[in-house]
Amino acid sequence: MDLSQYIKSISVAANTILEGMAVTFSHLFREPITVQYPDKTDRPVSEMLPPRYRGFLEVQMDICTGCKRCERACPIECIAIDLVKDPATKKQAMARFDIDMGKCMYCGLCVEACKWESTGAIRHTREFEGAAPTLDHLTFRFIPPGNLVPLWKAPKDLGEVPVGEYGPHAREARERAMRDNPALLDELRAIWRKQNTGTKKKKAGGKKQGKVQISADKMTKIKPTVLGTPKAVSFETAAPAGHLADYVRVTRARPFAQQAEALAKKHEYAKAKLQLMLAMNMDEGNTALESYLRDLETRIAEAKKKPGGS
Ligand code: SF4
Ligand code: SF4
Repeated sequence: MDLSQYIKSISVAANTILEGMAVTFSHLFREPITVQYPDKTDRPVSEMLPPRYRGFLEVQMDICTGCKRCERACPIECIAIDLVKDPATKKQAMARFDIDMGKCMYCGLCVEACKWESTGAIRHTREFEGAAPTLDHLTFRFIPPGNLVPLWKAPKDLGEVPVGEYGPHAREARERAMRDNPALLDELRAIWRKQNTGTKKKKAGGKKQGKVQISADKMTKIKPTVLGTPKAVSFETAAPAGHLADYVRVTRARPFAQQAEALAKKHEYAKAKLQLMLAMNMDEGNTALESYLRDLETRIAEAKKKPGGS
């Protein structure tokens, strides 16, 4: 490198640095376009989010029927609802409605189940602030411990379900959770430890898991309808064609199966099949599914043949 090239390189480097510094310097006199969160925004951020934002779940307890559709719809068991008999009214009431927001994956399946098959009491809100030292703080309890909430029954002449404002129930549950949960959960853990200290795990294969034996005199007291109730079977054991109907009856696939049945009645078998495939995660050509649909078709045809059948 000769001397002229050397001096040229130095001047190019100096120019580049000065250009960069000029851009930086110009920012000293501009208005900042960033905002500091959370205390420098005009409105709360949750109000600026889109209306369909999937934030924390909330339950409007005064329109909840306690049907547990949301609990059944949740694939990872975030929701826990306890129904008990209220000694004062002798009617069923809810003693617990907990949602573990620390575990929730915000899929919205519970919301869909409630919206289309019940009252829309459970829904996502635009609340999102859940910074907490432990996940214990994120179990939202919509019924404070010790309280009972009656099940909502819609009046016959009701036009629309009285759905209230989205957000206040989630905010209240979050505040309660942040304040009470750690102590409460510590207490529950202590009780659990006390109850389980010194209990040995049962040896595998110790007790045979055979058929439950019911004595003959008890059998006579059991109603025939109870004996005829199909057993809950897992999908794997339900796979043989004969058991699929049982599976549909006892699992959360039931509402989808009812919709499929309604479609089949209108002879829309292709749509009915698709509905069942989606509900039960089955592929085209699954023998159990085909057999179930054939059975459905036969039942509908037979019902039509009966006098008064439509
Ligand atoms: S599905 Fe809706 S109405 Fe039924 S228990 Fe859940 S929140 Fe309540
Ligand atoms: S949003 Fe999904 S994961 Fe969360 S409670 Fe509802 S069904 Fe369960």
